Amino acid sequence: MKALWLENNKIELRDVPQPRKSGEVLVKVRKAGICSTDLELVKGYYPYTGVLGHEFVGEVVSLTPSPSPERRGELKVGDRIVGEINAACNQCEQCLNGRPTHCENRTVLGIINRDGTFAEYTTLPLANLHHVPASVPDEMAVFTEPLAAALEIQEQINIKPNDRVLLIGAGRLGQLIAQTLALTGCDLRVVARHARQQELLKRRGIRIVSEEEVQPWRWDIVVEATGSASGFSLARQAVRPRGTLVLKSTYKGEMNVNFSSIVVDEVNIIGSRCGPFEPALRLMESKQVDPTVLIDDEFSLGDALKAFGRAAELGALKVLIQR
Ligand SMILES: [Zn+2]
Ligand SMILES: [Zn+2]
Repeated sequence: MKALWLENNKIELRDVPQPRKSGEVLVKVRKAGICSTDLELVKGYYPYTGVLGHEFVGEVVSLTPSPSPERRGELKVGDRIVGEINAACNQCEQCLNGRPTHCENRTVLGIINRDGTFAEYTTLPLANLHHVPASVPDEMAVFTEPLAAALEIQEQINIKPNDRVLLIGAGRLGQLIAQTLALTGCDLRVVARHARQQELLKRRGIRIVSEEEVQPWRWDIVVEATGSASGFSLARQAVRPRGTLVLKSTYKGEMNVNFSSIVVDEVNIIGSRCGPFEPALRLMESKQVDPTVLIDDEFSLGDALKAFGRAAELGALKVLIQR
């Protein structure tokens, strides 16, 4: 089958064997999305060799062995599904204590030791798969993984209607975070650099604030979604004493942070990564969130290299690859 292969900071289309993993579900990929992590993997920020891609919607080709009735017995061949990207061992201390996304032996779709979704087929354990409601089209379902990541913030912290919340960054993930934070009814402002990012937020009635207008020590909760040192520094200045700083992006290399000031101000720092799929699917089904406004372009798998070029353009949001 055709697949987009990453090796030594280079991506190329390759003919690779169709994946086969005993005990896992074979999935035909319908659409897959390019995310910032994919672009960073190509630049070599994390070592990975294999098929790239982790945001996808697909359909079940074969279930082997057939699932036990209590384990998602409703899944059958041909069903449209999305999949959680962390495959856990179910045996380590993290797994046994209900933290499967932190499994010590995990593989991660298209990121750690597991071929991903820029391919005709992929495989995942049955436990990772979620049924897509019929009213959620493919171009929406393909956003389930990043939307779930946005919702992880609300799994981790309590956001009250009176909270002043500042989101820094309105790119691929930032837009989804903004849409989900807006649903809490909090007093939300977003720092968005590009005109198109600002336009998308305004259309949903989400208020924008410029970097210069961000008042220091005023914000109850600050979400940093740029993954840049300057974004972190703005977030650090903005959060009030005993406020909460949520870090939603990874940072290249080491960060130079003044930790004494964080101690003195008693700031809570929360790292935030993968989130819950079912609520993400529900929010799209009920049309409370619309990620499709982020789509810039769509390419066929044969044009995956062009798709990556497009996704790397300044200000680009979501580029999809279809089978
Ligand atoms: Zn991603
Ligand atoms: Zn484990």
